[in-house]
Amino acid sequence: MDQTRLDVDPTQPFALSDGDALFLDFDGTLVEIADRPELVRPPQDLAELLQACAERLDGALAIISGRRLQDIDAFLQPLKLPGAGLHGAELRSTADAALELAEHANLAAAAAAVRAELGDLAGLLIENKGAALAVHYRHCPHAAAQVERALRRAVEQEPVEIVAGKFVFEARPRGIDKGSAVRRLMQVAPFAGRRPIFVGDDVTDEDGIAAVQSLDGFGIKVGGGSSAARHRLQGPAAVADWLRRGVQQRSPR
Ligand SMILES: [Mg+2]
Repeated sequence: MDQTRLDVDPTQPFALSDGDALFLDFDGTLVEIADRPELVRPPQDLAELLQACAERLDGALAIISGRRLQDIDAFLQPLKLPGAGLHGAELRSTADAALELAEHANLAAAAAAVRAELGDLAGLLIENKGAALAVHYRHCPHAAAQVERALRRAVEQEPVEIVAGKFVFEARPRGIDKGSAVRRLMQVAPFAGRRPIFVGDDVTDEDGIAAVQSLDGFGIKVGGGSSAARHRLQGPAAVADWLRRGVQQRSPR
């Protein structure tokens, strides 16, 4: 790709350029994490801001989340964006594209097994998303090891792998992660040929960050904690500021 980007503000080493493709995690990146996943409250102007960014990038802006895409759509309505849900088990390359679904196990029995084993743990939240099964222990952090053991046992026979996030263990289809989602989107319009940027706050985002950095793009880590990302922003408010600057500094064509 062309390395001489005249539209980049030199005081802002990771400014957004017209030729970029933007991959954004949702929880902890665009919205503050809430006590329960359904309780997050997106900032009022978030959808508008994302739409302006998407317009600047000719549609090359995708949400890459562990949530279902239908949840993301509900939070951003009426805006609908390209994206990957369930860490990449759901994929849509444009807002209007049909949802591509990876083959996946039915985790209802596993969810029931976890509930049977850990049901009396106060504050535990078992979230069966169909292709993925998340067990949140934000309100019983002392039980982390017990939660992980129970989930591992429950999905032993399933084609899934377990990943640890912020106060959550999640079983998701094996071989699918945010990195594979980014790579697939980067093969098709409007993403192909652009410089990819991935912004995320959690462990599962590192796959996306590694993917974009291997494709000559860069990652932005949100918040503290170790990361392979080349850049860092403090939290969702800082991400919104960065996006806002990206819209305002739009270069003339
Ligand atoms: Mg996140």
